[in-house]
Amino acid sequence: MPISETEIKELTHRLFPIHRSQTGTGVRETLDVLGDFGIQLDRIEIPSGTRCFDWHIPMEWNINDAYIADMAGKRLVDYRQSNLHVVNGSVPIDQTMSFEELAPYLHTCGLPDALPYRTAFFQDTWGFCINQIQLEQLRRQKQLQVKIDASYFPGCLTYGEATLSGETHRTILIWTHICHPSLANDNVSGIATAAALYHRLHQLTRREYNYHFVFAPATIGAIAWISKNEDLLPGIFYGLVLSLLGDDSNFTFKKTRANNHFVDRCLENLKTIGHWPASIRLFEPMGYDERQFSSPGINVPTARITRNPEAGFPQYHTSADNLDFISENRILESVELVFELLMMAEDNCLPVNTSPKCEPRLGQRRLFSAFGDSESNIKFQKAVLWVLNLADGTHDALEISSRSGLPFQEILTAIHTLEMHGLIQIRKVNP
Ligand code: ZN
Repeated sequence: MPISETEIKELTHRLFPIHRSQTGTGVRETLDVLGDFGIQLDRIEIPSGTRCFDWHIPMEWNINDAYIADMAGKRLVDYRQSNLHVVNGSVPIDQTMSFEELAPYLHTCGLPDALPYRTAFFQDTWGFCINQIQLEQLRRQKQLQVKIDASYFPGCLTYGEATLSGETHRTILIWTHICHPSLANDNVSGIATAAALYHRLHQLTRREYNYHFVFAPATIGAIAWISKNEDLLPGIFYGLVLSLLGDDSNFTFKKTRANNHFVDRCLENLKTIGHWPASIRLFEPMGYDERQFSSPGINVPTARITRNPEAGFPQYHTSADNLDFISENRILESVELVFELLMMAEDNCLPVNTSPKCEPRLGQRRLFSAFGDSESNIKFQKAVLWVLNLADGTHDALEISSRSGLPFQEILTAIHTLEMHGLIQIRKVNP
């Protein structure tokens, strides 16, 4: 059974409130929820201090409570109302101070009712994120009680991974980040898309590729995973970073650093011939974890699929990126897009014409009908002619689709029909 909207809704509503960070209990709780969702995850814990290339795994951060209160003890800013109130990764503080002393540690955003999302990883500082009304309330106080009950301690960085095995030794890596607190599009939507995609692929009776899913904190999580898995990298056909997939906007496909990899050709085909509403961006060394996979010493071809990219919408990294901003049907649409993309790798093949000297007699084989003028029949006959023409052993099904302007699935149907008539031999590609 495919994953339903109700199941996606339950998943996103469980994931959203969790206070995730680079490390700590929020990441583990997120992996617990994914386990409950039926994903067979291995949980990896890498101790603080472990060297990963030029980085070290940081100390683990956890938080119990935080507030800014007036001198009567009334909380004017309360962590229990929103985990976004505390700058993620803040060091502890327990002090009484004036508004002027507190002001440098307060953050607001362009949306007056919303809280910004701020982090202080690898920095020895703290802060609060507030809306404009709270800022004015605080300004009226002479003295304020400021407390962040958080701790850094030698612990671990945590990530989860799961593999769906296929028949070849080649792997497609599905990557999404799990380090943001209560933000829905960035990245509860990416986590939910990857989780539903896992089930979609799990239901296939046969898979050509292995699908390796990793749910990890951004940047340091990617660096840690890569440094632990360097021996796996040569077996990765390509990687896909999934995030920002639940809002109403069109898709944005970010191509690999190679720019002409198979997955890049697939993305172009999905946009131009598959008619997925999308824009295509060239690779740039900014963005999410495609940066780490695309570094010169790693060089795993990695594309990224988002809808509106990061910083491309006003709600980005604010409390307005909430569950009202995303929808279950958009997440399921994202799952279908990525599934269609992956099936292009599964189904691609190299057709070779066994009767390449002039056109074979298609009418005699009932492949060409003088009366078959329905739209689908005309399309099918075009697909047959394109396949026969380009099946010289140098054009794969994907290229025939792109050259002909006919959908990939139409080309596959023509290839398999021609094979049944002995006019095409099918060879494997992209092993
Ligand atoms: Zn983000």
